[in-house]
Amino acid sequence: MQGNDVGHTGMDTDVVIAGAGPTGLMLACELRLAGVDVVVVEQLAQRTGESRAGGMHSRTLEVLDQRGILDRFLAAGQLTPVGHFSGLWLDFDGFESRHALPLMILQSTIERLLEEWAAELGVRVRWSSEVIGIRQDKDAVTVELGTAQAAPATLRARYTVGCDGGRSTVRKLSGIDFPGTPATMTALLGDVELPELPEEFIFMRRCEGGHYSALALEPGWHRVITSEYDHVADRDDSATFEHLRESLIRLAGTDFGMHSPRWISRFGDAARQAAQYREGRVLLAGDAAHIHYPAGGQGLNIGVQDAVNLGWKLASVVRGQAPESLLDSYHTERHPVGERLLHNTRAQSALARPGEQMDALREVFGSLIEFDDVNRYLRGMITALDVRYPADSDHPLAGRRVPDADLKTPDDATRVYELLHPARPVLLDLRGNAELVAAAKGWADRVDFVEARSEDDHWPVPAIGEIPTPAALLIRPDGHVAWAAATGGVPDTSALRTALTTWFGPTLQR
Ligand SMILES: Cc1cc2nc3c(=O)[nH]c(=O)nc-3n(C[C@H](O)[C@H](O)[C@H](O)COP(=O)(O)OP(=O)(O)OC[C@H]3O[C@@H](n4cnc5c(N)ncnc54)[C@H](O)[C@@H]3O)c2cc1C
Repeated sequence: MQGNDVGHTGMDTDVVIAGAGPTGLMLACELRLAGVDVVVVEQLAQRTGESRAGGMHSRTLEVLDQRGILDRFLAAGQLTPVGHFSGLWLDFDGFESRHALPLMILQSTIERLLEEWAAELGVRVRWSSEVIGIRQDKDAVTVELGTAQAAPATLRARYTVGCDGGRSTVRKLSGIDFPGTPATMTALLGDVELPELPEEFIFMRRCEGGHYSALALEPGWHRVITSEYDHVADRDDSATFEHLRESLIRLAGTDFGMHSPRWISRFGDAARQAAQYREGRVLLAGDAAHIHYPAGGQGLNIGVQDAVNLGWKLASVVRGQAPESLLDSYHTERHPVGERLLHNTRAQSALARPGEQMDALREVFGSLIEFDDVNRYLRGMITALDVRYPADSDHPLAGRRVPDADLKTPDDATRVYELLHPARPVLLDLRGNAELVAAAKGWADRVDFVEARSEDDHWPVPAIGEIPTPAALLIRPDGHVAWAAATGGVPDTSALRTALTTWFGPTLQR
């Protein structure tokens, strides 16, 4: 499609997404699943093959399972039984999820797999297209694109989402504040060949001035990371192999003979968050909305989860089913998640500082992690499995992600996440509550009704333990519970209709 090729609606597309990173690609796929037309514009001419992230956590694996694409990721990565909080090991085994263990997988592989899925769904990605201008009016947003090679073009769309990373142009052009705390340390990262490493795995080895890691990345390659706390580098200075070598020698007393760098980068512990995730027709997601110290491997995960929260809401508004105000719930629900992410990574950065007092604090903290409740609390936070959105109901599942229980339908055996593959809301009746069908009749065009049985009396829920199997659930496309009925009582169909209206828009046929 050409930039100024305006269709009969006066729009080039429904949604323009800036940035083809993990967040932008996931959002594009969610929108396409809901039948929304979307164009992703990406400033790069092609992928660099570089990988910042090296892993995905439980909730992201569940989200991919909810869309039926998890096997592709499992086949390309490796499950590992542990995670960490500031280098102190957390045990993930036995956590209440079908996918409790973190998956080690390079960001470049994650992006390739998401891009393949996006292509299957008909997402258009426009490479070499940098967002350089944004204008909003009553009906639309006009995105101006430019590259060194081509004359600027424009795309007119109903909405634009900035998934364009920590230095987001979309955020800046929209005048959205990015308050937070500045960096207090400097980390250097290099993917190098490392012939003289005395051990296979060095992780956050503490020494005077900071700590360093050397981790096997893939055959023949190691990732070396140094973290120094006595200075803060200028974020615009380029990082070089020599900087990394000098830093490693300062910390480890040797450079382990490292050579042949294929990627050198620098990062710090600055932590900032967009004051608003929505400004009219412009929204932000992923690193564009939050940056932080990459401790515990959470940023990509939270970005993908932002996308899954926003996708179905934006689709519903674009299709004219839900009012625009539904988009405000994206900020209401996801801003606190980002805030907690900044908070926990600030804590991890502080705990990683050098010095004898910090050694003592880490020892105390390390003993606390041995307590099952502390381990459970921290892994719930790092995996984002404990996220609960504000909910009107006091049912323990309301606002939480639904457990992936095994189910029997009249025709088949299935499980909850399989029901979510089409990314549509599901009204799940587990006790043959005939009145639910009547109550939800007006939403039949947009909500799938499923009658099933769960053979388990109780369902496992992270951060809670076990709860009695509910009688019925209204599940949003992102897997969070919009309404729940407890076993034993009479389902509150009035509350069900309120939830249907709140999340999926009013209906004329009630
Ligand atoms: C050392 C390190 C290790 C990490 N490890 C992990 C980990 O293990 N797990 C984890 O979850 N996270 C990790 N992270 C964080 C993770 O890499 C990021 O959170 C993730 O890349 C964010 O994805 P995104 O799509 O929001 O942004 P990005 O990946 O930054 O993608 C943004 C895209 O937008 C494009 N773009 C930018 N400006 C424009 C423009 N004006 N117009 C058009 N396109 C534009 C960019 O080229 C880019 O392709 C790590 C980060 C670092 C630094």
